[in-house]
Order: sequence, then structure tokens, then C-alpha cells
Amino acid sequence: MSVFNNALEQLRKAAGLAKLSAAVIEQLTKPERSLQFSLPVVMDNGEVKVFEGYRVQYSSARGPYKGGLRYHPKTNLDEVKALGFWMAIKCAVVGLPLGGAKGGITVDPKKLSKSELEKLTRVFARQLAPFIGPDKDILAPDVNTNPEVMGWFMDEYARIVGRQIPGVVTGKPLGLGGSQGRVSATARGGLYVLTELLSKLKLNPRKLTAAVQGMGNVGGTMAILLWQAGVRVVAMSDSSTAVYNSKGLSVAAVEAYKKESGSLQGYPGSQAISNDKLLLLPVDVLVPAALENQITKDNAGKIKARIILEMANGPTTPEADVKLAKRGIVVVPDVLANAGGVTVSYFELVQNLQQYYWTEGEVLAKLKPIMTQSFKQVWQRAEQLKIDLRTAAYVVALEKISQAIEARGKH
Ligand code: NAD
Repeated sequence: MSVFNNALEQLRKAAGLAKLSAAVIEQLTKPERSLQFSLPVVMDNGEVKVFEGYRVQYSSARGPYKGGLRYHPKTNLDEVKALGFWMAIKCAVVGLPLGGAKGGITVDPKKLSKSELEKLTRVFARQLAPFIGPDKDILAPDVNTNPEVMGWFMDEYARIVGRQIPGVVTGKPLGLGGSQGRVSATARGGLYVLTELLSKLKLNPRKLTAAVQGMGNVGGTMAILLWQAGVRVVAMSDSSTAVYNSKGLSVAAVEAYKKESGSLQGYPGSQAISNDKLLLLPVDVLVPAALENQITKDNAGKIKARIILEMANGPTTPEADVKLAKRGIVVVPDVLANAGGVTVSYFELVQNLQQYYWTEGEVLAKLKPIMTQSFKQVWQRAEQLKIDLRTAAYVVALEKISQAIEARGKH
């Protein structure tokens, strides 16, 4: 299943409604630049292992490229292209003056020591250095990368260019110019969007149940925020297993258990179920927060949730979208639901450039109106054109990107 083809299908579905010219469509179906690197690393045993790395700079129409860096054994160019395209759409949905990009290394980070991971990150920073910078392309964390990795990356870049340029990456540790609120920003943005949706649907969060797939930065934080908002979180999962209790899980206890034992297996007072089964539970809100292609034509007909809040990128295929829409299931698309992360990344860049830092309260006070206004704009467009929220979000974004392309002139 090509994830990039899914992305292009989403583009085509909205392109006509956004009244894009043929030239703009053509431009948006190809990344501006795809970079592929070989990354030799001297491993702890002295052997040299060569990894493969990618950076796809998809669109710079609205500003410097912006997007995360993923470490995963299945990462490939097709996936990184799709993720870069979605970043361009996402930044435009929430009105950031940024383009879209994504990077990745095909690696299972669980099989590397910390020192090997640091070396790999530094080798990648050296290869990427000529192509990045706060006014060119800015990186950030994604699957299996975190503030520590961003810190190594920033440090290597500073050594190469001979000066401190913290704005080359966001999601850094606080002591290196990171922003307050960045770690929880993606989930917090998702909660702001969900709260707006629930108010439109006249639903009380305290009467709802949820299942969350993925327990990383996004899924783990989202589960906590939902739980704190009074939603009964009945299921959670990581890459190996899922735990379920129809009466509700104590999210903090599940997270503490996972941290201590390294896995969810054997969590007391819960039933172990498969990740596939988690997606089909009878809950109000399903939150995919792991990887792409989780909700497909094969399981979309069996999903029982009323709302799907896409915190992962690309969890639903276009064929599944059609089935879900027919069944009246509301899908809050990734490019809106998880845009809180890149929004606070943008705030981090702004703080780095002005060398003046905001409190967490200031960050959240700026994030909330962006997320709620973006939701309202997308909702309104969906009602006006009688389309689903994903297509509406694409229409909103594509109009902005198209205006930027046109405004740059023809020659
Ligand atoms: P992470 O590495 O912190 O966590 C990923 C989680 O997914 C882990 O708990 C892992 O065990 C779990 N997982 C992996 N494969 C799984 C599977 N097959 N089934 C169930 N769980 C599985 O990554 P993250 O930063 O939380 O990213 C998760 C998703 O959110 C990705 O799609 C990412 O692109 C997207 N996203 C992340 C950010 C961000 O700020 N980190 C922002 C926007 C979108």
C-alpha cells in the first residue's frame, strides 16, 4: 500500500473544490526535492554499518520547509514523501508561514545503543547540513526521535557552521532553546480540536469512552489529557499489545507500568487484546496515534466509534474514508487534529530567532486560538460544501498554498 498514493488521492479529491489550476496541481503532486543519503556509522563493536536516510522537501511555497525526523525499520522514501506532503497541508491549515518536509532513517532504534544512535544522528546532521537552517528547512521530532535526539542534531549543526543556530531544529530540550509546552503540544492541540467538535455535536466528554492506539509522545499524552478531561479511556496500546477494561483504565497507572516493565503485557485488571481489536472496540472516540494505514477498506466497515481523532499521520486510507463517511463516522483529519505539534514548533522557532522565551501559559494561550479557529474554518467549509472534514481541511490548505504559488509569479 503506497502511502504517497493515498496522499495524492486526497489531493485530487480536494483539488477541484479548491479550484486549483492544472499547473498548481501538477506542482503539488511532486516534491520540490527528494534527498537520499547513505549514513555510515562505526558501531560499538568496531564494524561499520551503513544506514539509509531521507529528507523530502515537499513544498516551500508558504515558507521554509518544516517537518519531523522519523527513525523506523520500515521508513522508506514513499512514506517520507507522503509525510512531507501532509506537513505542507498541515502548516497551511493552521496558517503557519512554513512549507512542508519530512525526514527519516531506516533503522530500528531499539537495536542500537545510545552511543550508536547519537553517532547516527550526527552523521545525518553532517550530510543534511548544506540543505537545512532556520530559513531553509527546520527539523523536529517524530516517531522514535525525541528532544535528546534534537539536541544532538542541533549540536552537530552548530559545530559544522561554527555558530549556535538553535532554530535549525525544534522540539529541543528546554536548556538548548526548546519551547515550554512543545512535548505535549501535539496532544494538547488535539484536545482543543476535539473539544470544539464535541461542542458542535453537543456531546459531553464526561459521558464518552475512548480507545487510544500508540503510547508514545502523542498517544501517551493524549490518553492522559482525555482522562483528565473526564473521558473514560478503556483501551491503550503499544507496538506489541493492547490492554482493555470496559470500566476504564487508570491512564497514569498504565503509563507508569509501561515505563517500569517496558511493556504493557500483564497490566493488572485488564484484558490483553490485539492492536487490530482495539480499533474495533465499541467506543465513542477512537484515537489512532501510532502509524499510517491502520484503518483500511478491510476494517472500516467494522469500526464502531462515532468519532476518529487522527493523531497519527495518515492512519486512514482513502478507501476507508469513503466507507467511514457512508456510515456517518466523523473523522477529524490528521492535518488538523495533530497540527498543535508543528504550531508550537513554529513558536519555538520564533522564540529562537528573537532570543526571548515564553512561559508555558503564554505558549498555550497562543496555541488554543489557532487550533479552535482552524477547526471552525474547516467545519464551516465542510458544511458549506457538504463534504467531509478531511476534504474541507485540504480545500482550506490548498487555497492558501495555491495563492502563495501564484503570488510568487510565473518566471
Ligand atoms: P513515538 O515514537 O513517541 O510513539 C509511537 C508509539 O506508537 C509507540 O508507543 C509505539 O509503541 C507505538 N506503535 C508503533 N507501532 C504500532 C502499532 N503497529 N500499533 C500500535 N502502536 C504502535 O511517536 P510519536 O511522536 O508519538 O508519533 C506518533 C504518530 O503521531 C506518528 O504518526 C507521527 O507522525 C504523528 N505525529 C507526531 C507529532 C509529534 O510532535 N511527535 C506531531 C504530529 C504527528
